[in-house]
Amino acid sequence: MAGNVVGIMIPAAKEKKKHRDGYYRDRYQNMDPVKKAQYLADVRAWRKAHPLNEEQQKAGKIYRAQRHIETYALRKDAINAKKRERYHADSALRARIRAGSTKWWNENYPTRKEQYLAGQRNWYRANRVKKMGAVTLWAKEHPQITRARRVTRQAAYRAKQYGVDGRFHTIDIATLYQNQDGKCRYCSSELRNIYEVDHMTPLSRGGSNKADNLCCACSSCNRSKHTRTADEFLATMTEALR
Ligand SMILES: [Zn+2]
Repeated sequence: MAGNVVGIMIPAAKEKKKHRDGYYRDRYQNMDPVKKAQYLADVRAWRKAHPLNEEQQKAGKIYRAQRHIETYALRKDAINAKKRERYHADSALRARIRAGSTKWWNENYPTRKEQYLAGQRNWYRANRVKKMGAVTLWAKEHPQITRARRVTRQAAYRAKQYGVDGRFHTIDIATLYQNQDGKCRYCSSELRNIYEVDHMTPLSRGGSNKADNLCCACSSCNRSKHTRTADEFLATMTEALR
């Protein structure tokens, strides 16, 4: 029996063909349960009597890892698709996975925080030029949003200085600009995407920083209006025209 076992573990040249044809695999799978148990006990005994040395263990580990990588690479898409399908179909599974992630995060983030942040900093340092390139490109391709963003930031900064209530967003400014057909609220000149946000009732006179107190104006009108309200400014404008 032991001789057979050795024969299977280290096949002789004439037995290699049998291996290729799956002879031993089939024989093992079809084996009588009692025989199978005996066979496994023999294998275990043989292995115990012939322990692998360190080099062999290492080689085996490398072989198994390599085989895992190869078989996984072949079946990767199918495996992941199946995982995704299961994840989306089963809400209990989803909850379990999420709870697990949260738990892991809560347990590990405090001690790894510095490491994470350092990793992010390093990434940013290494990819800054690439990242800045993308940002600049995006800004060039979306000039209206970029301008709306800038004036939104500026207005928010001034509102903070005055301690005034209310907040608006880039989209509000973009909407205003569209509603005014891209023209200055006061002199109706074409703004061509170069404009400022005017608080119709100035912040310094208690005007809010909400969207309904805002308009888009050319910088010339915005400057000369100064601390007047929109109505006051329009009145002086018509007066000047008379
Ligand atoms: Zn104007």
